Amino acid sequence: MNLKFKKKSYCFNLSAKVENSKATYLTKSGWIIKLKNNDKKIGFGEVAPLLTKDLKKCEEQLNMIPEYVELSNLSEQINIFHPCIQSAINSALAEINGKIIFKENYYFDEIDKTAMLLKPNNVISDLNEIKKTQSNIGKSLTIKWKVALKNNNVEEAILEEVLSQIDNNIKLRIDANGSWGRKMANRWADILKDNRNLDWLEQPLAADDIDGLKELNKKIPVALDESLLKFPNLIYEWKGWQIRRPSQEKNPDKLLRDLENKKALISISTSFETGIGRRWLYHLSSLQLHGPTPKVPGLAMNKFPNSFLFLNKAQKIWDQL
Ligand SMILES: [Mg+2]
Repeated sequence: MNLKFKKKSYCFNLSAKVENSKATYLTKSGWIIKLKNNDKKIGFGEVAPLLTKDLKKCEEQLNMIPEYVELSNLSEQINIFHPCIQSAINSALAEINGKIIFKENYYFDEIDKTAMLLKPNNVISDLNEIKKTQSNIGKSLTIKWKVALKNNNVEEAILEEVLSQIDNNIKLRIDANGSWGRKMANRWADILKDNRNLDWLEQPLAADDIDGLKELNKKIPVALDESLLKFPNLIYEWKGWQIRRPSQEKNPDKLLRDLENKKALISISTSFETGIGRRWLYHLSSLQLHGPTPKVPGLAMNKFPNSFLFLNKAQKIWDQL
């Protein structure tokens, strides 16, 4: 199969900064790619590296892909490329081949359909706002708190306050982004192990402390995030929750099939994609919600600017870019 390959770069400012213990995100850059086959079927993909240090490498590799390319050559060529490029090409091919058929609407912009990120400096006031919303709409909500940003004594005091203030209708995810040591992680696990509000502790230990993470997962639900990015084969072995980012995986088609086959303990997360990559996030998240362990995805919905980049029609985004 002959393919025509095109790419366009994008950059946008997040509407509010996103901060964790390892990085602060203010802007997002990447590329939209478009593949067209002999039958004029079109597939779009997005190259959306999470780390800005990977942008240069992605740019160099994208420039190596010719405008007209045979499918077998392309598949072989991208094997050694950055996972985000592989993800974009494989996503576009899945669309061309009809392996994924996007719906017109997915409704993840409703407040109870995605996890809400608490502002690290206003955890309690944010929580109070959310409690008001929760009692107004009468639905269960999920909050996510990025920790290891302040002194641990301060954060444990905040935790105590959070736990004393939430009822059964609020679910809690705590993300340390790999910044705790085993001792600290165990302290938090001891406080939280019988708590019914907790969804999971996310990446409590460094990405490569797999033994420590396995041990901790016996005590409390542990979700891997950075570990899966660093060691992608862990998706086959890890028995607990997995935070999955389709734009960072070499072939999101595999994730799609796992969710279609009702694989449990997977939660979908954004890497701040445009509307192109977001189609995958929405589609996979809606499959997840129909699986055996439904949990709202982490889509950071309130962090995106009002822009054509987030339209729900891929072709329109492409045309305006
Ligand atoms: Mg995380």
